[in-house]
This record gives sequence, structure tokens and C-alpha cells, in this order.
Amino acid sequence: MTKPADTAHPPEGSVDPAATLHTGGCHCGRVRFTARGAPLSTGWCHCTICRRTTGAPALAWVTFPREAVEISGTPATYRSSPVGERVLCPVCGAQIAYRGDASPTIDLNAGVFDHPERYPPAAHGFYADHVAWFDAGPDLPKVDDTDSP
Ligand SMILES: [Zn+2]
Ligand SMILES: [Zn+2]
Repeated sequence: MTKPADTAHPPEGSVDPAATLHTGGCHCGRVRFTARGAPLSTGWCHCTICRRTTGAPALAWVTFPREAVEISGTPATYRSSPVGERVLCPVCGAQIAYRGDASPTIDLNAGVFDHPERYPPAAHGFYADHVAWFDAGPDLPKVDDTDSP
């Protein structure tokens, strides 16, 4: 497969978002990903599963349609709940993504993108579970999700 010209990330506002290419990967470089097109959404997740599986007080994510994302490097998976799994690097342990079994989307962890600054979170999920000392944008909309992470 020939790699299309990388038209990603020209100056803001000058590109069709559908033509955007997003890239990222784990700390050691074994697991890499590309995502094409515009993200469906971004946000913080404050659920206990995201916290325990990342070790961070909250997880920032960027959601794409599953078919828009290609992951390379033979990642490991971990079933973090009865309804979904985490994708992670088996070498350095970095978490790359969450996939809900029934969901047509995939949540890529914002922190493993090559340019995480391009995906500012737009909302808080599972805010009822947030760590009180963690200030991640107090003015964003706050949702107390009922679906399982
Ligand atoms: Zn790694
Ligand atoms: Zn979560």
C-alpha cells in the first residue's frame, strides 16, 4: 500500500478535517497508530477503570470510527471490564486505546499522540468519580455517564 501524501496538520483552519492524518505511539515505539479523518469527539474520562489502567488521575481521549484507525506493532490487550478492552504496548506498558465490544468507535489515549496539543478535551466523562484535587478544566461540561467504560 502506498502511503498517501501527508497533508496532516497544515496551519489551523486551512484544511478539510476529513483529509487529516493523525499519528501516535507508545513510549518505546513498538506500538504505533494512524487515524484518518476528523475525530468524533474528545474529552476527559474520570472513571476508576481509566485511572487504574493508566495510573493517571484522569484519562484524556480522542474518539474515531474504528475503521479510521490502524494500529501496528502487535499490541497486547487487557479486558478492563465485561464490555471492553484496553490496547497497550507489551513492552513499555503504555496504554494506547479503549475499545468497547459493541461500539463502532475507538478511544485513543490523547497522551500517546505525536501532537496531543491538537486534541483539547471538550467535556468531562464520569465526572462523579473525579479526583477532587485534579483540575482538568473546571468550566467544561460535566457528565455523569451511566455506560460502562
Ligand atoms: Zn512501547
Ligand atoms: Zn474511563
